[in-house]
Amino acid sequence: MEPANAPNIIDGNRIAEAILNEVREEVATIEGRKPGVVFIRVGEDPASRSYVLKKKKVSQSVGIESEVFVYPKNITRDELLANVDAFNKNPSVDGILVQSPMPGHLDESEIFNAIDPLKDVDGFHRINSGKLFQEDEDGFVPCTPLGVVEMLKRSGIATSGKHVVVIGRSLIVGKPLAMLLSRKHEWGNATVTICHSRSSDLASITRTADILIAAIGRPEFVKASMVKPGATVIDVGINRVADAEAPKGYRLTGDVAFDEVAPLCKHITPVPGGVGPMTVAMLMSNTLKAYRLRSASEI
Ligand code: NAD
Repeated sequence: MEPANAPNIIDGNRIAEAILNEVREEVATIEGRKPGVVFIRVGEDPASRSYVLKKKKVSQSVGIESEVFVYPKNITRDELLANVDAFNKNPSVDGILVQSPMPGHLDESEIFNAIDPLKDVDGFHRINSGKLFQEDEDGFVPCTPLGVVEMLKRSGIATSGKHVVVIGRSLIVGKPLAMLLSRKHEWGNATVTICHSRSSDLASITRTADILIAAIGRPEFVKASMVKPGATVIDVGINRVADAEAPKGYRLTGDVAFDEVAPLCKHITPVPGGVGPMTVAMLMSNTLKAYRLRSASEI
């Protein structure tokens, strides 16, 4: 028998599948040109290869046209920018995603800011960051933070009035997530604290969280002693930990020590099968949004 305080494990695969079904149904109603997205990968980072492959497969499964462009790791800044510009001008491309991380000689923010903001389905362009800051719903919000909020919403976990602690201040996860959760919105309205590598006495802050979100990139960093009993814990981390017995020689681990933290929680997300699939689902949703916005502006 399950213990009375068994946590509710949030099934990211199930929620993502529901979102993908909605996207698939809407795409099926589109007559003529279907939404299209291009994925750009520079170099052969193994995690990036698998992320891009997954994104392409999921695009196909919902009827979104997609193509992967792989450039050598020594591509010059000018060559990459010229390619991005060609996709910006290509009318059959609604979304452009340049997979991070890029090789060190490329300035990621320069590349992200070169993407047409209307095709910026990853939401990293400064115009889209500004729109998020200004609570302008026309902008694109980065897929992982968007996925976290959608997951809370579809799990019925209210954020309004709650204290949310986000560990991590990256532009990809931590900062936009804090912005989303603090906005004046039914699925915002939270009191948000952002913690990072220079926060002092982290545990004393995380223990006050009703909703604790870890986006750190350190395997099993969040221990039971850092979590308030009854909290909701969202684990954004995806870490490859060497494991000779695993088929690929590594296993995926989150930023939360799941086995010791889960018994304390009201809700918790697993890794894998938590936030990861939500990110890809929101990418599809953002691509469809880009298609809609561009189609509306052509009329
Ligand atoms: P990042 O390296 O850009 O940022 C990590 C953040 O963690 C930084 O802001 C840093 O200040 C903070 N941090 C590091 N050490 C800390 C410490 N000791 N105490 C407190 N804060 C600390 O990483 P990112 O791109 O934001 O990604 C974070 C994690 O989320 C990674 O594991 C990444 O793989 C994962 N991720 C998952 C998805 C997904 O789809 N699930 C998407 C993006 C990133």
